[in-house]
Amino acid sequence: MAAPDDLRVDLRRLHGFVAATFAAAGCSAEEADAIATGLVDANLTGHDSHGVVRVPRYLLWLSEGEVEAGRNVAVVSENAAMAVLDGQYGFGATVGREAVRFGIEKARETGVAIVALRHAGHLGRIGQWAEMALEAGLASLHIVNVAQSRLVAPFGGVEKRFSTAPIAFGFPVEGQPPVVLDFATSAVAEGKVMVASQGGKPLPEGSLITPQGALSTDPATLYGPLEGTSLRDHAKGEGAIRAMGEHKGSGLALMCELLGGVLAGSGCSGPPGPYRFANGMVSIYMSPAAFGSDSAIAAEARAFIDFVRDTRPAEPGSSVLIPGDPERRARADRTEHGIPISRQTWESLVEAGRSVGLARDDPRMLPDPPPAT
Ligand code: NAD
Repeated sequence: MAAPDDLRVDLRRLHGFVAATFAAAGCSAEEADAIATGLVDANLTGHDSHGVVRVPRYLLWLSEGEVEAGRNVAVVSENAAMAVLDGQYGFGATVGREAVRFGIEKARETGVAIVALRHAGHLGRIGQWAEMALEAGLASLHIVNVAQSRLVAPFGGVEKRFSTAPIAFGFPVEGQPPVVLDFATSAVAEGKVMVASQGGKPLPEGSLITPQGALSTDPATLYGPLEGTSLRDHAKGEGAIRAMGEHKGSGLALMCELLGGVLAGSGCSGPPGPYRFANGMVSIYMSPAAFGSDSAIAAEARAFIDFVRDTRPAEPGSSVLIPGDPERRARADRTEHGIPISRQTWESLVEAGRSVGLARDDPRMLPDPPPAT
């Protein structure tokens, strides 16, 4: 998971630094804390692509007005079963949390609820929202797109058409860890290309496609020529990320655009148009108790998961995992040993802290990375 030359940073240190950075950039202490929690938690669960590597980009979005501090969700429409909420281009960490709370409350009353969130700032690791619903005992499904973000070529094509359109499910299993399935419908999340472009984990074979239709693992295919720690801009590269799973993943991405973009109301990845960059998310919350006896559902889920875990592994000595297992393992390791980040990411964080006025001797400031050995 971590590259061999990654440096480790204590999670409290990193959280304190990121929160201080966003507070210095104009967010309230509560919002800055929520942003730091979302980003650092993504690192903790092993999803470095959605972790602190994003700090410079979030700051840029804030300074350009792409995302706005201090926003709350507004109710566009609501009935007993569903609601449409407008995130008003607030930070995803804030408006995402509000929208999920809304869905949890509704599902507690009705057993099932659908909540659409439009115009949200970056919602980060979507699994975090499924985990929040799980804490309330609910199963959930979250279908997401990114308005005006074109990164992924549809099956059979070489041009960017879809966003990386993620989808996440959570299923509670009483007496066992829950199941959390959470992935981008692209072969890799864009953040993984960003991490690879900054000296982090290399991309798996066939992640990208060039305009000539050749498969590639070179981040320059997406970003154009790479220069130091400069912000990566996918508009500068001529290639695209491939959809996951050939025609099936491409079809799933299309459905995420239709549900998360058209239905939720932020608009789709394209064509270029009047919409502004934002996450859209349609979430379905389900209380198991509304579907049958809690204990019968829990017993059957446990039996099935044990049955799946018990599969003979393809590689002797390995084991079949359940979605959510890798994140739990990463969380345990990184809580104890610190969060691995590349030297380049560390340098970009120090630069970000300075850019918002954090002084070198501020105890919350990240020091320069230790010298390379
Ligand atoms: P990924 O390819 O790492 O897949 C992660 C999922 O697969 C998890 O549910 C994990 O538990 C499961 N998994 C991994 N290895 C497994 C194994 N060996 N056996 C069983 N299950 C296994 O995820 P990704 O596509 O790179 O996405 C990374 C993150 O990016 C996600 O959190 C996603 O929500 C996020 N994302 C967000 C946006 C956005 O706009 N906010 C866009 C794209 C992606």
